[in-house]
Amino acid sequence: MSMPSSSYAEFYRRSIDERDTFWAEQAALIEWNSQPQQICDYSRPPFARWFVGGTTNLCHNAVDRHARDRGAQNALIWVSTETEQERIYSFSELQREVETMAAMLLAQGVGQGDRVLIYMPMIPEAAFAMLACARIGAIHSVVFGGFASVSLASRIDDAAPKLIVSADAGSRSGKVVPYKHLLDEAIQLASHKPSAVLMVDRGLAPFERVAGRDLDYAALRQQHGEARVDCVWLESNTPSYTLYTSGTTGKPKGVQRDTGGYAVALAASMKHIYCGEAGETYFSTSDIGWVVGHSYIIYGPLLAGMATIMYEGLPTRPDAGIWWSLVEKYRVSVMFSAPTAVRVLKKQDPAYLSKYDLSSLKALFLAGEPLDEPTARWIAEALGRPIIDNYWQTETGWPILSVANGVEKKASRFGSPGMAMYGYRVKLLNESTGEELLGANQKGVLAIEGPLPPGCLQTVWGDDARFVNTYWSSIPDKLVYSTFDWGIRDEDGYYFILGRTDDVINVAGHRLGTREIEESIASHPNVAEVAVVGVADQLKGQVAMAFAVLKDASRAATPDGALQQEGEIMKRVDEQLGAVARPARVRFVSVLPKTRSGKLLRRAIQAVCEQRDPGDLTTIEDPSALQQIRDLLAPA
Ligand code: AMP
Repeated sequence: MSMPSSSYAEFYRRSIDERDTFWAEQAALIEWNSQPQQICDYSRPPFARWFVGGTTNLCHNAVDRHARDRGAQNALIWVSTETEQERIYSFSELQREVETMAAMLLAQGVGQGDRVLIYMPMIPEAAFAMLACARIGAIHSVVFGGFASVSLASRIDDAAPKLIVSADAGSRSGKVVPYKHLLDEAIQLASHKPSAVLMVDRGLAPFERVAGRDLDYAALRQQHGEARVDCVWLESNTPSYTLYTSGTTGKPKGVQRDTGGYAVALAASMKHIYCGEAGETYFSTSDIGWVVGHSYIIYGPLLAGMATIMYEGLPTRPDAGIWWSLVEKYRVSVMFSAPTAVRVLKKQDPAYLSKYDLSSLKALFLAGEPLDEPTARWIAEALGRPIIDNYWQTETGWPILSVANGVEKKASRFGSPGMAMYGYRVKLLNESTGEELLGANQKGVLAIEGPLPPGCLQTVWGDDARFVNTYWSSIPDKLVYSTFDWGIRDEDGYYFILGRTDDVINVAGHRLGTREIEESIASHPNVAEVAVVGVADQLKGQVAMAFAVLKDASRAATPDGALQQEGEIMKRVDEQLGAVARPARVRFVSVLPKTRSGKLLRRAIQAVCEQRDPGDLTTIEDPSALQQIRDLLAPA
């Protein structure tokens, strides 16, 4: 494939102006059983259909073609610091395991279009299950292992799986976290009942088997060990998976992804954005329960012929050097993590970062939440490797904003996740008029004009109306996809994300992004992490309240110390953003309420501050975090 120019501007322009030619070229990055007849069908906006008529298979492209061309090379490297195990599968071995798992699913009557729900810890069998579904055209729906029975039940009801794959237990910080009773409870709560549950027994937690329903993975693996199961050729728009995200309502949304578009989008992103080469090793520290786990633990690296590391454990156990020791050991070339993890490491001894040979590492990508400048600077200096922010959503499946160093090397800018990625017609729109903001440094809603590029959600599972009403109807008079994020763009096309449109606060008529205030507070040398929420105030409408975790908490241990620290931080906000942005209070806590994937639970904090019910807290990492805030706010 030859690109007419090496400039990113030209590459981007072609992706928009010569859309079909551009994506036809990208489509050559994967193998097709039959070539697409039409590159993009956008005759029914906002529903886009990519590579219409082409038939392919995700598992063929992620596994079989590499087993054929490079079978002995590492494909899946599993490391568990929880159980002190390490297992490596070559592409040929991975294909064998996937075929065996596919045979088990077929034997249970699972076929094309059937749903398989995967509720698993970070173990290789979870990857086999996902790839086995892709192989036979079943639709997988991975539910994060940290969810408890009520959340799991609602997802079972929405996905209506024929079969569930699960395991006896996960492990966190050396403690066994049993899964099976949660799954049994969830199935009891759900109105839909799966006909079978395939259980992987890790020997961590004894569990009861339900006769006639629960199957033993080890026994079936023996039975189907030699099975050959061919990949089913699927029309490009056949759904490959659904993945639930929480929205503003209690009912989870099943983001539905296609087959061919997703494969092409990921293969292209591996080449142009992540710059991973076949034979190299990719290490993403996410979990298969999240979109990063789908795109950049399982499918993306494997599509590119890379080995992928699947890591079960914490970043700080047995010590804060564990990730970097894996980079050294497996010569990791591309790494992907989240800012929260970096902030956790920031509180540890920096010597761990210089202890290992990181010369194989081309870049560390961070995504999922805003990467504040102090954290970015700290990790860039400590690692001495490029740090690349990238902004996207469960819905899009791959970056909306980043830098495409595989096309043209561009400097990253601290505080910015980068520029619009090829294929995305990113716009900043005036929230109330829908007018496009064309000038630099104007704040607007970050929106994307359709068609969304390949790889993005096709619809909300089972609910086309919800897809249209949630994502495409929030900007007046325009059929445009809203990210629900605020953004600005500088003169050079770099975007800055200023927080969710749904977390906006309005103080005395001034609209403020909580994100801006957080960034300012986080730049205080003694602040490790901070959350800012808007709290109802009789005089000003809302005021900003800040909750901060200090690096040296002893400085706020006494009431006087806390007041002094609070004053210092407010002064900094005054100096950086102006008094209008100064939070009403800055309070100190030892931990912030976050989901297990590291997202701040701003709305729950806000609810507690306003003495409202914080709502669904099934995703909270540490329930005591909200209690600390309650205690702080309680009258003395
Ligand atoms: P999720 O679908 O859970 O990945 O969440 C997507 C949301 O996370 C986006 O809409 C943003 O609000 C936020 N987000 C993700 N990546 C970034 C980033 N690099 N910088 C700022 N915010 C981000």
